[in-house]
Amino acid sequence: MAEKVVIIGSGPAGWTAAIYAARANLEPLVFAGRPKQVPSLVLPGGQLMLTTEVENFPGFAHGVTGPKLMASLEQQAVRFGTRIMTDDGLNPDVSNPDDGHAYKYHDCTKLDLSSHPFKVYGENGEPVEAHALIIATGATANWIGLPNEQRLARSGGGVSACAVCDGALPAFRNKELAVVGGGDSAVEEATYLTKFASKVYMIHRRDQLRASKIMAQRALSNPKIEVLWNKVVIDVLGDQMITGVKLKDTKTGAESEKPLAGLFMGIGHTPATAFLEGQLDLDAKGYVKLKDTYRTTTSVDGVFAAGDVADSVYRQAITAAGMGCKAALDAERWLAEKGIE
Ligand code: NAP
Repeated sequence: MAEKVVIIGSGPAGWTAAIYAARANLEPLVFAGRPKQVPSLVLPGGQLMLTTEVENFPGFAHGVTGPKLMASLEQQAVRFGTRIMTDDGLNPDVSNPDDGHAYKYHDCTKLDLSSHPFKVYGENGEPVEAHALIIATGATANWIGLPNEQRLARSGGGVSACAVCDGALPAFRNKELAVVGGGDSAVEEATYLTKFASKVYMIHRRDQLRASKIMAQRALSNPKIEVLWNKVVIDVLGDQMITGVKLKDTKTGAESEKPLAGLFMGIGHTPATAFLEGQLDLDAKGYVKLKDTYRTTTSVDGVFAAGDVADSVYRQAITAAGMGCKAALDAERWLAEKGIE
């Protein structure tokens, strides 16, 4: 028998879609994704699994850690009847977030959307058939890929890929910080950080910003922002907390050190859509194209997309969760119209 709804992905969008679909008695089945190695940093639970304090998710007046928030969403989804594809069947015990159960979760490896019900291939060979699909595989922030960058990012040591998420933390107040990158995101992050930092360096590998003219002007005219041109970060310094970076000049090859209290990546994001290629319409950067900005409908009837995989603009946990809710409601209505309940 075909599943009513299969959800692929387990970040805020995926689990919120699961909560809503489960409460609508659709018994959603989730392919939550198998933990991957650094530096790809793809994890069940999504990018919040790499964050320490989340202070901007509504409802947590005193903040919550990313992993704790995601464990709560997962438990809430399972409590209402969500099933998860795992090595040990569909009904894992998710009560202990630290027992490693997520390492048994399955990836979706391939989709066949050419006929209905759709075919979802996991790690078992035989496809699962699905009437409706919600794609919520997210996007991963790009990292430089340095071992010390990854170590300090994972331990909350002052290295982050989201200034809006982490920039207001006390450790960064009135300190010298840096953003890597020269695009619109890097400018936006640097400008945002000037609210808290005493100074923000933009570390850019060329002698010209990629950012749009107006954004570039905003950065260059901000007295708190200084661009370090033609520089790449070749190491991140510090034991528990970042103390600085080692830089290399891309023109002269000269190496130098810059003391810093925080380092933010602004070098773009990569949507997790490689497995969708040729099946769903994607935009030039690989994000799922939505048919209607206010809905979660995609180029294939019955396939919905939510969260960062379809949103290169906002990329916040709360906006992803909101889209997950919309996708579940869209799927529920679509199934009802087709008489599948
Ligand atoms: P982006 O435009 O691709 O810029 C990425 C930047 O990171 C580039 O400056 C690039 O350098 C640099 N970079 C990439 N890999 C690097 C590496 N390994 N080491 C060092 N530097 C590296 O990405 P984005 O800034 O995230 O923007 C994505 C899209 O969203 C764009 O279309 C942008 O216009 C849009 N956006 C718009 C706004 C806004 O309008 N408010 C805000 C954010 C994003 P090079 O320049 O040398 O390639």
